[in-house]
Amino acid sequence: MEQLEYADEGRTELSSLGEFALIERIKEHFETKNKSTVKGIGDDCAVIGTGRQKVLVSTDTMTEGVQFDMTYTPLKHLGYKAVARSLSNIAAMNGVPLQILVSIAVSNRYSVEAVEELYDGIRRCCERYDVDLVGGDTTSSRSGLVITVTTIGTADEDKVVYRNGAKRYDLICCSGDLGSAYSGLLVLEREKATYQADPSSQPDLDGYDYVLERYLKPEPRLDIIAELRKRGIVPTSMIDVSDGLASELLHICKESSCGCEVYEEHIPIDYQTSRVCEEISKNMIPLSNALNGGEDYELLFTVSQSDYEKVKEIEGIAIIGHITDAASGAKLVTPHNMTIDLIAQGWTSQDNDD
Ligand code: ADP
Ligand code: MG
Repeated sequence: MEQLEYADEGRTELSSLGEFALIERIKEHFETKNKSTVKGIGDDCAVIGTGRQKVLVSTDTMTEGVQFDMTYTPLKHLGYKAVARSLSNIAAMNGVPLQILVSIAVSNRYSVEAVEELYDGIRRCCERYDVDLVGGDTTSSRSGLVITVTTIGTADEDKVVYRNGAKRYDLICCSGDLGSAYSGLLVLEREKATYQADPSSQPDLDGYDYVLERYLKPEPRLDIIAELRKRGIVPTSMIDVSDGLASELLHICKESSCGCEVYEEHIPIDYQTSRVCEEISKNMIPLSNALNGGEDYELLFTVSQSDYEKVKEIEGIAIIGHITDAASGAKLVTPHNMTIDLIAQGWTSQDNDD
């Protein structure tokens, strides 16, 4: 682990650790004791139960000013997204979501109508994915809105897919396209800055529908889970893309004790994602949005080579690379055959050009 910075004796700054190391540190102090705890901290969901059918549980929080900005987030969309991102974790375990609990902490800056609008979005997502709202908690908050969605789902024991099952030579697959949600966020941030500089200006969001929807109203890829099931494919490992492709590939490699090689030209990037990048800055490359942007809620999974014929039949699945051994590390191969180390934030070039 990296050297920690101590601001004063006995105090470790959270920023010196980062989210993943903090979770690791929490985990170290807890052992699971119950036979029914099949999987605890460390995957997209906890897996619980002693029977053949397992229960999947996942919880996810969105905080105003951190995960969402009320200046450009319609409450209806926020409710929908809070549920969608929680359901996505059930999809990432190859499960079916059934129930949610929703907890809100809300400041008196919000009206009853505003809370109803939030729940309108929650209801729409529940309806779309046949999920029941079965409980939650309501408290007040001194600063803004916090929403936590806990989702419960199920999967047969032999169908649960963890992050740790990838094997050498497995194919790495990815649903949909990547980086578009981050492009949507960039557009919204640009319009917010324009408005702040000149409050009489009108937001110019025409022609950005796709990237805006990807950011504001993502969908959990339960349709892909259904397609995999229909074709009898059980991925060897899976994760949802919430933090960017690079970070998720590294999770799979770490948990599966393997390496990976993904090909830049096979990473699915929509032309609208690229267009936004070009507009915002000459230095912004779409690949970087895909690797580091996050919030796409697509599925990243690995399948055995023997499933190649079946997986390639599924619409909207890209085969982006393959699994290698741990010693080879996690690599991105450019169209010019340069190999670059994948790192969680951005990537560094390796002097390996030929
Ligand atoms: P995701 O990005 O899929 O939502 P996270 O990175 O939030 O996953 O969480 C990774 C794992 O760590 C999950 O198993 C989650 O339940 C667990 N986890 C996250 N935060 C905490 C916490 N504060 N205490 C215990 N477990 C946590
Ligand atoms: Mg996840």
